[in-house]
Amino acid sequence: MITRTTNKNERVSFSGFTQPDAGQFKDVNLFGKTVSVVDNEKYEWANTTHLHLKVTEACNANCSFCVEHCQNRQDVASIARYEEAAIKVIEEMKSKGLLQTISITGGEPSLVLNRFSERFVKACETADGVYMNTNGTWLKDGNNTLKYAGLFNCINVSRHSVDEAQNAQTFGLDASALPTNAHLNALAGERDLRLQCLLLNEDTENVDNWIDAFPNVKDFSFRQVIKNNENTEAFELSKHKMETLIDFLKENAELQEQVVQDNYVYETWIYRGVSVTVSFSDMTFLVENSPTLMREFILHPNLKFGGSWYSEDCLFSF
Ligand code: SF4
Repeated sequence: MITRTTNKNERVSFSGFTQPDAGQFKDVNLFGKTVSVVDNEKYEWANTTHLHLKVTEACNANCSFCVEHCQNRQDVASIARYEEAAIKVIEEMKSKGLLQTISITGGEPSLVLNRFSERFVKACETADGVYMNTNGTWLKDGNNTLKYAGLFNCINVSRHSVDEAQNAQTFGLDASALPTNAHLNALAGERDLRLQCLLLNEDTENVDNWIDAFPNVKDFSFRQVIKNNENTEAFELSKHKMETLIDFLKENAELQEQVVQDNYVYETWIYRGVSVTVSFSDMTFLVENSPTLMREFILHPNLKFGGSWYSEDCLFSF
């Protein structure tokens, strides 16, 4: 069951996922196959029908925690074929009432986005909102080198420390390859920009530092490391930072909402007039569930489409 509360006293423990409940899903026909999706009429507040267009696995950064390492970072074989598939997926999802929002993601999407056509952009614009997840390298020196930057309602920039050198080190890059704090802050004064931080580096859980360093940014998002077989130490460190951050928010901020699903929990707080979101996901559902169960929708660079971040588990192929 998906639950939601806006009352601080009713929020549940952050790490507690609910069990999947058959009542939360409904059957729909997608490209001629029956699949189960979250019933977005029952849970319209949860934004359950989100399409991730993973336009590439290539990246110009080298984060130690990157999950793309194990997928050989394949680039899109043919942009023309990818955008044909993406347009078909968007049209099919819309016709079934399944499309709310789209994220353009990767890898680093700015490496390939300029090669896409206006037709692709127009199809994306039929969604209620379009977002981009980026490491921000294309914004360095305050430049905007992306011709479709206007498509995005909000640009989600990964930033893993307030300290520019530590942030660059996390990306495995020289600081000169990334925008400075001042450049990002100036951009945030012009358009919606969310800073996304994986809680790992020293002091990242100190939300006051972030707000002081980026006074124009009105939206911060903090994620906890996802557990796998190799990262126990990083997972425990990140968990501790998340607990510290949540304890601070409970004392000092107003809860806007908490949404708990069987694989994902997020909560948004208002602190010093800005939005602070904390989230955690459990990816085990990806490998334990049937490929016909789709909580979210992902089109991979190799044109596999389904509910899994592992393209080989996906049901459809273009
Ligand atoms: S920026 Fe993202 S895709 Fe690139 S290496 Fe880091 S985690 Fe991976």
